Amino acid sequence: MLKISRKALGLITSLAILGFCVGCAQKKQSVKKENSSVVANPVIAHRGAWKAKNLPENSIASLKEAINLGCRGSEFDVHLTADDVLVVNHDQTFYGLDVERSTYKQLLSKAHPNGESIPTAEEYFIEGLKQNHTKLIYELKASEISKIRTLKAAELAVQLVKKYDKNSMVEFISFDYDALKKIKELMPNARVSYVGPRGDAKAPQQIKSDNLTGIDYRMSVYKENDTWIGNSHKLGLSVNVWTVNKKEDMDYFIKEGVDYITTDYPEMLFEVLTDESPKSAK
Ligand code: MG
Repeated sequence: MLKISRKALGLITSLAILGFCVGCAQKKQSVKKENSSVVANPVIAHRGAWKAKNLPENSIASLKEAINLGCRGSEFDVHLTADDVLVVNHDQTFYGLDVERSTYKQLLSKAHPNGESIPTAEEYFIEGLKQNHTKLIYELKASEISKIRTLKAAELAVQLVKKYDKNSMVEFISFDYDALKKIKELMPNARVSYVGPRGDAKAPQQIKSDNLTGIDYRMSVYKENDTWIGNSHKLGLSVNVWTVNKKEDMDYFIKEGVDYITTDYPEMLFEVLTDESPKSAK
């Protein structure tokens, strides 16, 4: 009887210790989770990582550098040529040629100083999808010619993502709300964030009700609307801020808990994040 009682007592003790350990592990895990959200990698290289090494913006070289640095994403700008090729360039012109009104072949007559031709969005995908830690942040540029051309660019972008079947590695951003809604209509699981021109930053509730997945606004918008970061997160929207090039602003938005920080200085942002890490662990 006494033997059984001791056995039972031993079993109860073991179960109690086991329960305590599981409780500790869960607690540790949740603390770790909290800390990791503070120090998670939010670094988005703006037009690739080009500045420090004097590479052309939006070149394949700048994409490769963003990947080498371990950025969470590399942003790039995409236009549609006159003959319906998606090409990567920020401005409406590429070394004097009007991108939208030129054929792809005409654009090949010019080159970046490093010798690269204007990259196609497909070439960006081929290079960017060789790895899986740096997402492709695809900015769809609106057409200056017509809304029809903008929506065509959206359709072709969706076709490209479907061709490479790597939706999880691509996120769309655009100033053109209709283009983003078109992408969501054609590819319901796409991640699409509204950039919002000056004076037309839509509130998180509207973004959510229009079925978009995030906001991507300039710094001043968040400072003028100080509930929007928190409200976006409550609604399950992602929050990106651009273009954050000063340490004090980086520090501010890290503390505000945005998901993505777009910068011309990814190296500097990594330094700021490293400085933040010991503080957040305290
Ligand atoms: Mg852009």
